[in-house]
Amino acid sequence: MIYVLTIAGSDSCGGAGIQADIKTIHRLGAHALTAVTAVTAQSSVGVTDIYPVPASFLSKQVDVLVTDVFPQAVKLGMLCSVDAVREVVRLITRHGLLNVVMDPVIRASTGQRLLEGEEALTSLREELLPLVRVVTPNLDEASILTGRKVRTLEEAIAAARDLHAAGPDVVVTGGHLPEQCTDVLCDDSGLVAFEGDRLDTPCSHGTGCVFSSALATFVAQGHSVRDAVGRARAVVRKALREGYPCGKGRGVVNPLGGMDPDVHEPGAGSKNTGRA
Ligand code: PLP
Repeated sequence: MIYVLTIAGSDSCGGAGIQADIKTIHRLGAHALTAVTAVTAQSSVGVTDIYPVPASFLSKQVDVLVTDVFPQAVKLGMLCSVDAVREVVRLITRHGLLNVVMDPVIRASTGQRLLEGEEALTSLREELLPLVRVVTPNLDEASILTGRKVRTLEEAIAAARDLHAAGPDVVVTGGHLPEQCTDVLCDDSGLVAFEGDRLDTPCSHGTGCVFSSALATFVAQGHSVRDAVGRARAVVRKALREGYPCGKGRGVVNPLGGMDPDVHEPGAGSKNTGRA
C-alpha cells in the first residue's frame, strides 16, 4: 500500500482542505494519513472562524503515525500559524520525511487569511520552502512569496524560476491567468508549460487541494515530478467537470466524480426481500 500523509486544515464545507485531500488520495488508490493543523468554520460563502490546533498537538499526530507507518509522500496544506510552520520544519527534519509537496495556502479565494502574520510567511519562505520537493503556488501565492506582481504567463514563469532557486521544483498553477490555463513547472531540467483550455465552472472550491494531494500521491507511487504534474492536472480537470453546488456560494470540485455509488457485496443484491 502507498501511504500519503496530509498535514492540512479541516474545511467544514467539505470541498477543500483535508477533506479534499482524503478523497483525492483514496480515489487514486493510496491511503491518507492525516494531521490536522486547524479547524475552520466555513461554508460555500466564506470562512467565519478558525480554531488552530496547538503546534505541540500537531507534532503528536505526526510522531505517533510515522513511527508506525512511514508515508512515501507528504502533502502540506493550510498551516495557519508561524508555530505550525516551524513545527512542520522540525517534523520534516526529525523524521526525514520524503517527497514533501507544499500547497502554500495563504488565503481563501473568498479573501480570508488562512496563514496568519508576516512572521509565518517569512518562516514558510525561508525555513520550510528549501526543505520541500515541490511547491504549488497559484498566482496570488506566487506573488506573495516572491514579493512581485504575478498576473501574466511571463510573470508566472519568472516567479517559478525565482522560487526554484530556493530548492524545490515549482508548479505555478495558472487557473487564474487571463487567457489560457497554463501551469508552469520549473525543475532542474528547466521549464515546462502544461497548456489547457479554461474550464469555466462556478464549482472550483478545493481545486488547489486536489491538485497538490494528487501530485503527492503520484510522486509517492514512483512517478517523476513532471509525469505527476501531468497526471494531477488530469485529476483536477475531471474533478472540476464533476463539481457541484454546495450552498449559496461557490460550488465544490468533486475528486470522487465518476465513482460507482451502487457498491454492494457481491451476490447480496439490492432488492428488498421483504424479510426483517
Ligand atoms: N479551507 C481550507 C482548510 C483550505 O485548505 C483551503 C485551501 O487550501 C481553503 C479553505 C480555500 O480553498 P479555496 O481557495 O478553493 O476556496
